[in-house]
Amino acid sequence: MTDCSPLAVAMEEEESTATAMDVEESPSTSIAPRDPPKIQRLEESVVNRIAAGEVIQRPVSAVKELVENSLDADSTSISVTVKDGGLKLIQVSDDGHGIRREDLPILCERHTTSKLSKYEDLFSLSSMGFRGEALASMTYVAHVTVTTITKGQIHGHRVSYRDGVMEHEPKACAAVKGTQIMVENLFYNMIARRKTLQNSADDYGKIVDLLSRMAIHHNNVSFSCRKHGAVKADVHSVVSSSRLDSIRSVYGVSVAKSLIKVEVSSGESSGCAFDMEGFVSNSNYVAKKTILVLFINDRLVECSALKRAIEIVYAATLPKASKPFVYMSINLPREHVDINIHPTKKEVSLLNQEIMIEMIQSEVELKLRNTNDTRTFQEQKVEYIQSTLKSSRSDTPVSPLPSGQKTPKVPVHKMVRTDSSDPAGRLHAFLQPKPHNLPDTVSSLSAVRSSIRQRRNPKETADLSSVQELLSGVDSCCHPGLLETVRNCTYVGMADDVFALVQYQTHLYLANVVNLSKELMYQQTLRRFAHFNAIQLSDPAPLSELILLALQEEDLDPENNEKDHLKERIAEMNTELLMEKVEMLEEYFSVFIDSDGNLSRLPVILDQYTPDMDRVPEFLLCLGNDVEWEDEKACFQGVSAAIGNFYAMHPPLLPNPSGDGVRFYYTKTSEKSSQENPALGGNVEMESVLDQDLLSDAETAWAQREWSIQHVLFPSMRLFLKPPASMASNGTFVKVASLEKLYKIFERC
Ligand code: ADP
Ligand code: MG
Repeated sequence: MTDCSPLAVAMEEEESTATAMDVEESPSTSIAPRDPPKIQRLEESVVNRIAAGEVIQRPVSAVKELVENSLDADSTSISVTVKDGGLKLIQVSDDGHGIRREDLPILCERHTTSKLSKYEDLFSLSSMGFRGEALASMTYVAHVTVTTITKGQIHGHRVSYRDGVMEHEPKACAAVKGTQIMVENLFYNMIARRKTLQNSADDYGKIVDLLSRMAIHHNNVSFSCRKHGAVKADVHSVVSSSRLDSIRSVYGVSVAKSLIKVEVSSGESSGCAFDMEGFVSNSNYVAKKTILVLFINDRLVECSALKRAIEIVYAATLPKASKPFVYMSINLPREHVDINIHPTKKEVSLLNQEIMIEMIQSEVELKLRNTNDTRTFQEQKVEYIQSTLKSSRSDTPVSPLPSGQKTPKVPVHKMVRTDSSDPAGRLHAFLQPKPHNLPDTVSSLSAVRSSIRQRRNPKETADLSSVQELLSGVDSCCHPGLLETVRNCTYVGMADDVFALVQYQTHLYLANVVNLSKELMYQQTLRRFAHFNAIQLSDPAPLSELILLALQEEDLDPENNEKDHLKERIAEMNTELLMEKVEMLEEYFSVFIDSDGNLSRLPVILDQYTPDMDRVPEFLLCLGNDVEWEDEKACFQGVSAAIGNFYAMHPPLLPNPSGDGVRFYYTKTSEKSSQENPALGGNVEMESVLDQDLLSDAETAWAQREWSIQHVLFPSMRLFLKPPASMASNGTFVKVASLEKLYKIFERC
């Protein structure tokens, strides 16, 4: 030990001095090439210290290892004391089976363990540890003292360790059942690490957080955690038979009473066997940060993809409580999990992750919808919305209100927006409130499951080889670099109406959200093919009128009545064509048109996302005009592309009111007021008035879109999008800056 501590200090300090010297010496070294440096074998003590620094990165990692050892020793009570954020002292005491006297000499050597004897044991292991590295590592970076007693002994033993070996023979001492391990002066020989940790005093917080998480999962063990010398414990849990009780005792009553139980049992047939059970918060729980306490096969892990996926569900169903508290315990067959990953690797990526996440998402969504009766959901409030402006072209609205029914005034932010600037009255079709315990939702869950099954076993659905071909096409066109970028980029904000600014590593990109969302929706349509959940429109709208509306919109000269007849004829023909395809549209795409020719149902392409209903007419026209119906593959592709285009996150039809677009809300108003009011004799009021209602509609629409881009589009893209190579060159992704270069420029300023 004495020989290596100065060396380690030198090692850490060398890094900084080396760079300084390199810079100074570079002119001479660049002229005469150096001889290759000699390769030497590192001393074992150096190797051990380097390894130790990896296993024990900070105080909280030492606590985790010690507590896991206590759990492995069948303890029922574990208490932790911490001084100075863990740097001065970490003490973990348990009432487990203790350590034999004869094992003490090798206890802290590297690769000594009681949990594994041959490699195959790894696959049937139920303990947390198995590498025999944790205690050894601690002795290389701290002073470790162990006091332990085993069953039947009259006294215990105490011994201290340095660098893997005992400092003296174990001494007999009085002891209570179990083991107590003291780790003092952590990183005493790693000056740089100690300094960085001293500056951030947050490790105690991390330790409390760790023990809180452990405590709610291992509810058959009582945990406590306190600062050295403090009377009151910051974590204190008692053994309890109910998980909810342990959550109550650790996270408090208010958290526990806002929880809903969730469960998934996937069964073998889904191709990915797993069980999940847990609790998620309801709308009463409002917090600034999501807490996801996740255990996979009893190991505490992190999984950012799952976290994001759950956040998406909340953002869409409970926007005001969108940062949930979630506890989940997932169990997979042992042989499906590779536990032999890096000792500190807490983040996991699971086999069949996407399928698991989707199933968990549907369960959470289902439970939130069914259980929450104190608040209704955004879309449940949307029953019927009348255009705020009256129609001037048509006497009868597209979907008249049933007589006697009064339209409740719905706050704008709760509406799915209509384009109230359109005098033709556009579409009055909105989401229907879903009754509680709707059998539909249950069947929608089974639809999700069967879609997952089908994705696992494409052959199960007979005639879908063309869809599989299209999906393989998506895979084979995928650009690996863009995929990496999309998966790991951070959304910065919208740069304009179409481009979002995103950061990936040190680069900034402009990303075209219309193109990206169109592609994502297209791909999701193919993936969910024939297994969609449905959006029910509360007022079925007649196809022919919708198509006519789209044709009128396309027309640059709407005053020319001569063409009206022609448009009606085209609308009729398109309607007839679509009526011939209703069965297929319903079965494969969940686009439902009833026998009277009314559109009444649309597919859910991305959970938690409703398309802009103003684009329904254009969508139907596009189905009629652009789809190649005769060839199966081309037809599926065409319909999926039309759906992709419809669901894409286009800029809203109302101009963006921030900036110049606001002018629109002045001029329109003065014209409209004259049209609406014949008493004015068609005189346009010259004074421009701001139409507040329209403006606030527009503001809501734009804000909602930006919200969806950030909270639905980007997270879903990270999970599902396979960006085609064309996106690298067609302007969808444009690199605008490299931060390193920017920093260099700023440095010079
Ligand atoms: P691992 O947990 O991977 O086996 P560790 O270095 O963490 O390696 O521990 C080495 C061994 O020390 C364990 O296998 C176990 O037998 C013993 N041990 C450590 N801590 C305890 C404890 N609190 N109670 C009983 N035995 C322990
Ligand atoms: Mg261990």
